Amino acid sequence: MDFLRRLKDAFLKFIIKLDNGFLCDTCKYNHPSDCIQPDRPNAKECVEYKHK
Ligand code: SF4
Repeated sequence: MDFLRRLKDAFLKFIIKLDNGFLCDTCKYNHPSDCIQPDRPNAKECVEYKHK
């Protein structure tokens, strides 16, 4: 099921790029204690993205 999860996240990343492009808005890690990426909360590219 990990493959399906990654496929879903890749599809959602594509849809978000067509919209405003900010991945963090819908990412389950969008919290200071869960994500130390410097681009948060305005990341437009991120390999750690997981949909909520
Ligand atoms: S993991 Fe990436 S997309 Fe998710 S909150 Fe952190 S920077 Fe944003």
